[in-house]
Amino acid sequence: MRHRLPPDHYINGILAGDRLLLSRAITLVESRRPDDQALAQLVMEGVLSRSGEAGPRPAASSVRIGITGVPGVGKSTFIEAFGTYLTQLGHHLAVLAVDPTSQRSGGSLLGDKTRMETLSMNPNAYIRPSPAGDSLGGVGHRTRETMLLCEAASFDVILVETVGVGQSETVVHGMVDFFLLLMLAGAGDELQGMKRGIMELADALVITKADGDNIAPANRARMEYQNALHLFPPTGTGWFPPVLTGSALTGAGIATIWQTIQEHQQLTTQNGQRNQRRQAQQLTWFRALLRQQLDSQFYDRPGMQDQLALMEAQVQAGTLLPGQAVKMLFQPSSSGSR
Ligand code: GDP
Repeated sequence: MRHRLPPDHYINGILAGDRLLLSRAITLVESRRPDDQALAQLVMEGVLSRSGEAGPRPAASSVRIGITGVPGVGKSTFIEAFGTYLTQLGHHLAVLAVDPTSQRSGGSLLGDKTRMETLSMNPNAYIRPSPAGDSLGGVGHRTRETMLLCEAASFDVILVETVGVGQSETVVHGMVDFFLLLMLAGAGDELQGMKRGIMELADALVITKADGDNIAPANRARMEYQNALHLFPPTGTGWFPPVLTGSALTGAGIATIWQTIQEHQQLTTQNGQRNQRRQAQQLTWFRALLRQQLDSQFYDRPGMQDQLALMEAQVQAGTLLPGQAVKMLFQPSSSGSR
């Protein structure tokens, strides 16, 4: 039985940058037990209402960066190199993950190997694997809350990593200020599973492993992708997503990638886009949660699954009209619980 502490204990600990208490609070956020959830909400509220007391709210000055790319593109190696570089600049870095595969088969794409060994030993970096959840929406929600807790604990750069499968890129894009797409030189778009839609989400592309014999192909790929991006409609933000090359092995391009992100932050802070993006994300988050809650309140009603199965059979057979069926479901007497 896990020992739970009073909310203030977590709140004070997190605001003081205590990692152990941060981790325990994140575990509460990720728990599906109602009592853990209730405590997690108290901690979240306490942290958010108090984190502005000593100065500007940490969230206001943080940079949230999403990183995606197919397995093997070099995400974890890149995050090691990039993250180490950022901590050398004095930043405090939290690395989170959204991995929709981790709850499907138990085999997580992002967590099945020893990853980021150097960074995990770094006192200025905090790495948290993807939460398990019953849906991508659930995982996304928990990662957002975790991100807010990390910001309250004074982590000023948040990296959210995801794999290029399913809808996880869209979910991560919906929680970050800057979305970075890693790509391989010499692999076709289909091979990389890259849909045009994902390229459109990117604020920058990085061709990875630009070292040794791969430098020339990486530069060629850079030109090709830059040309391809020119064909996309302008984003309306005044930002034109650049294509860069980088090597986690030699460190080439790492500083330029950070500089690019900073330029984007500067531009979007000045023109108000950063704020607008965050406000829109908050609203989307709220609406998604509301929909989730409505769904579960409806579908989790006692006897609902049986009733639905019966009705669907009748609808299929043509003995019940869909409209009629829906009406019946929303009649108070049909809930069976009232
Ligand atoms: P992930 O699946 O996207 O997280 O990819 P990994 O970071 O695990 O990298 C996949 C493979 O590419 C590993 O064997 C890495 O050693 C290799 N790799 C990653 N980054 C680089 C790089 O910058 N240069 C070279 N030459 N190899 C790299």
